[in-house]
Amino acid sequence: MKKILIVEDEPNFARFLELELRHASFEVTVAYDGTSGLAIALEHDFDLILLDVMLPGMNGFEVCRNIREHKKTLIMMLTARNKVTDKVTGLDYGADDYIPKPFAIEELFARMRALFRRYEHSEQTLSALSFLDLNVDLNARVVTQSGDSLTFTKREFDLLAVFMQNVNLVLSRDNLLNKVWGHNTEVETNVVDVYVRYLRNKLGSPGDEKYIKTVRGIGYVMRL
Ligand code: CA
Repeated sequence: MKKILIVEDEPNFARFLELELRHASFEVTVAYDGTSGLAIALEHDFDLILLDVMLPGMNGFEVCRNIREHKKTLIMMLTARNKVTDKVTGLDYGADDYIPKPFAIEELFARMRALFRRYEHSEQTLSALSFLDLNVDLNARVVTQSGDSLTFTKREFDLLAVFMQNVNLVLSRDNLLNKVWGHNTEVETNVVDVYVRYLRNKLGSPGDEKYIKTVRGIGYVMRL
């Protein structure tokens, strides 16, 4: 069930939105001013925030800018009708879309669906990574090399994924250890060297550095 936060100071309109969204099977939270809206948005995770512009205290643009400093939550601004400056300002401040008030609830739902689709599509795109002849799908946890699938253990996959997500970035052994084995691991940093060797073997390049290069005294990097 998708979670929606409504930030809207007009109680009747907020109530109307809340009921319509609940009816459409969303989980709904309502805030009636900018300051509490911001606090709730930062403390909890929502799939979408419907954010009015004209709010008492902190206005919608400020709330939007503040949320964006910390989170990527989808934000749709509820702007005054025909105020072009509101639309432009909202998008400048990091909103994902806007809808002019008053609007038909069907129009809101249509825009929400479009926004969710766009977001899910971009998430999918981000989950597919490639380097040379390697392709990794982070969601499906599938690795192929020139189209042939390879099998990795969980750790090997996680380590490879970190390299694929950080192409051209030199990663220290400590950094890799934290990312793959976790911050509280008791494992020695030389386990990283062992796993890099496993990866190189499975990728068919034992001893050479086609995919993962050693950076002496520091760690490793995936680069051409
Ligand atoms: Ca308002």
